[in-house]
Amino acid sequence: MKIKFNLTWSTYLEEWSYFIIFDTLLYSYVGMILRDSQLKLHLLEFANHDALTKTQNYAAYSSQIKYLFNDCANNKLHLSMMMFDIDHFKSINDTYGHLAGDQILQHVVDVAQTVIDANDPKVKLYRTGGEEFNILFPGYDLAATESIVREIFLALNHLTVNINDQTIRMSISVGVSTISSQDTNPIDFYKRVDTNLYYSKKNGRMQITTA
Ligand code: GH3
Ligand code: MG
Ligand code: MG
Repeated sequence: MKIKFNLTWSTYLEEWSYFIIFDTLLYSYVGMILRDSQLKLHLLEFANHDALTKTQNYAAYSSQIKYLFNDCANNKLHLSMMMFDIDHFKSINDTYGHLAGDQILQHVVDVAQTVIDANDPKVKLYRTGGEEFNILFPGYDLAATESIVREIFLALNHLTVNINDQTIRMSISVGVSTISSQDTNPIDFYKRVDTNLYYSKKNGRMQITTA
């Protein structure tokens, strides 16, 4: 370059130093942008996931149900929901301790997620409360949910967790429903699923109520 443009040594060295400064600044800027976007992704992941079970949390459920409800209502698509709650979980905590309770919650998510993955990854699991979970079935009417709901129900009711040489068993109560043309918002839909779950609880627990 020095010979081609007939530069003096001082101009040549000056050009080189500008080049190195520019390169360093560019490199730091790109690094900063990459770190910033990684941090944003990490924060988003953190905001949408439950720290204990690593499944999606209430915030994620809330935004997804709004989107799916509008999409399904506007385009006349099916949407169903399953909600389940662990039976007598307080007494599990009281008997075996909260750490055992935490491990059960982790197992519950692992088992439910395994069943979902084996069936249809479009179906999504959320931990919406302490020992309450919601599962969204986009594109499913009630009949279509039946086999997956039953599989999750059976798998969780047969789940045994071994902690400190003790075998802990658990059961779940379930409510299932599908979107109706009378639902004006996601809450109307959610309330029906919740009412069905409540019916399962009142009617003896460890059962599925679909309506
Ligand atoms: P039901 O069959 O009517 O649902 O009875 P339940 O005992 O499961 O329901 P209740 O609402 O009385 O108690 C829920 C318990 O869940 C109380 C609370 O301490 C426990 N819980 C909520 N979140 C967690 C958690 O993250 N870890 C543990 N170990 N326990 C939790
Ligand atoms: Mg419970
Ligand atoms: Mg509960």
